[in-house]
Amino acid sequence: MRIKFVISAVIVSIVNLFIFYLLFNQGKPLLAVILCLITTIVISVFWFKWIIKPVEIMKKQLEEADEENIKSERIRSEFVANVSHELKTPLTSILGFIETLQDGAAEEPELRTKFLDIVAIETSRLKRLIEDLLVLSDIENKRDRYEDKKIFVEKSVKEIIASITPIAKSRNVTVKLNIDESFIILGNEDRFKQMMLNLIENAIKYSKVSGTVYIFNEYLDDGKKVSITVRDEGIGISKEHIERLFERFYRVDKSRSTKVGGTGLGLSIVKHIANLFEAELKVESDINKGSSFKVIFSVK
Ligand code: ADP
Repeated sequence: MRIKFVISAVIVSIVNLFIFYLLFNQGKPLLAVILCLITTIVISVFWFKWIIKPVEIMKKQLEEADEENIKSERIRSEFVANVSHELKTPLTSILGFIETLQDGAAEEPELRTKFLDIVAIETSRLKRLIEDLLVLSDIENKRDRYEDKKIFVEKSVKEIIASITPIAKSRNVTVKLNIDESFIILGNEDRFKQMMLNLIENAIKYSKVSGTVYIFNEYLDDGKKVSITVRDEGIGISKEHIERLFERFYRVDKSRSTKVGGTGLGLSIVKHIANLFEAELKVESDINKGSSFKVIFSVK
């Protein structure tokens, strides 16, 4: 700021000296004084704007940072409220059934089995929720070191399909895989598998009974990109929901999600992992016809 002041003062002095010299020599001292005053004022105004500019930029940046802070604080507190609610619901139900059992239902074998089954279902829901929350927090805190190991996509996806065969069988859903053996991407394989598991599990969960789930890859943009698609022939998602699908705890139909054991976090985990892989996500869906989730990777 001091330099700016010196530069301005030097400019004012030179201009004033020049004007004064010219006009005084022409015998117009009053005009010389007036013109000098005017140039001093004009240059001072410019000088003031010049030094105030960085201050204004700083003020704007501070205001933006403030708004960002308020926004992230709001998101954080909404998230805490959501998590508390999601944890409280199964816990309340578990406590209720345990109390009923303690109050005498445990003496009746039929009721005992029924209530213990509910307690078991709610407990595994709690476990899944906590596991999903831990995955989310790990990814958000970037705890998994950056890795660029080779992932053999076909082999990886086959392993996931094998692990969820019981769920597919229980709904009589067929999974058809068509991925090139040579398809390799770089990154953390555990994360990749988690993303594919969430997409394939959803495709099975939201499929119609006896439906088919297709998993395949495609080359796009003259081979600059390669995608993996998970497509189902299930219930579909209407347009207005698609934009919000990847938000934490966003469910199109809460009762259906709960019935199929959903936590509402699966797709937000998918979004975070896709970001880690710098991949793009595309969703296409038609009600009662099915949905397709595409993860598009850049070929490096
Ligand atoms: P959830 O644990 O409830 O399945 P997700 O984050 O995985 O949570 O998905 C969010 C919501 O998106 C789900 O509740 C469901 O309504 C909808 N959804 C996700 N995948 C599909 C799909 N393949 N077909 C239809 N709806 C889907």
